Amino acid sequence: MSNLTGKNQAATKPGLIIAYFGNSVAVEAADGQVFQCQLHRNQALPVVVDRVRFELGGGDAAMGVVTQIEPRTSLLARGDPHGKRKPIAANIDVMLVVMAPPPIFAEHLIDRYLVAAELLGIQPLLVLNKMDLLSGERQEAALARLNRYQSIPCEVALSSASTVGGVAALAALLRERTAVLVGPSGVGKSSIIAALGCVEPIRVGVVSPKGAGKHTTTATRLYHLPQGGNVIDSPGVRDFSLWHVNKEEVLRGFKEFQPYVTNCRFRDCQHRQEPGCQVQAAVADGKISPTRFESYLELMHDVSRIKKQY
Ligand code: GDP
Repeated sequence: MSNLTGKNQAATKPGLIIAYFGNSVAVEAADGQVFQCQLHRNQALPVVVDRVRFELGGGDAAMGVVTQIEPRTSLLARGDPHGKRKPIAANIDVMLVVMAPPPIFAEHLIDRYLVAAELLGIQPLLVLNKMDLLSGERQEAALARLNRYQSIPCEVALSSASTVGGVAALAALLRERTAVLVGPSGVGKSSIIAALGCVEPIRVGVVSPKGAGKHTTTATRLYHLPQGGNVIDSPGVRDFSLWHVNKEEVLRGFKEFQPYVTNCRFRDCQHRQEPGCQVQAAVADGKISPTRFESYLELMHDVSRIKKQY
């Protein structure tokens, strides 16, 4: 645990960061009260879902101060324009990869999210939303494509945020877990968050006299679900994409490949087109989905291309 200010621990309270505004955070105390804490440039920055200790009435009597950040179980970050990774949220258990029916439903996109989840140590849950738009053969075809993911294994759920179909089952899957929703724009992430019954969580107990408490700008927020569990909504996470990964990370991101990767003829096999490759043999034997293998080849190609540019 890092003590950020050297303050006496007895004077501080435990809290949970439920919103991040850039220069301040909203901290929820154990009794549910929410306080605003100012962030200082020289302190380690807490992010949403960080468990912290905080103290009220620091230098600015109206604002609290975060004094400690507890160790994190996971950290979701995104690349900034300078190639630096910017932390967005901590302690996430599950990444809801939200897709809508074809043409949006695209394996290569799903697989990028799954690689990210695997590398971050966050469990993925693939959600096909807008099921109300699918029937007959189109529905069957979409379900068949979805079923491939169950054999990875990856949890799969169906929903319709419009008709609320499948939303109760989704809520049950999220009980006791903290989830983040990712996926392309328009698949229904905001609609799912609303259908899950999330309401505006911020009732900041202490408002800065300078007005810093009256935030109208979008922020990363944690919502408590009525049935238990939490979801995070963030402009930074909504369009989250796979950062620049290397070849080893790409391979590690395909977890069903792992039993085969050490038995190839060549020790430095990249599992692309080399003879004696056990990953390719597993694809030929139907043990690995050819679509997943295509995504792997595409990602490996992207990595090689990026390297050549520099
Ligand atoms: P986001 O960009 O992923 O957050 O997507 P939104 O939640 O903003 O939804 C995009 C559009 O899809 C909106 O017009 C929603 O009303 C619509 N939408 C969301 N969920 C569903 C659904 O389950 N079925 C249908 N038919 N439309 C949906």
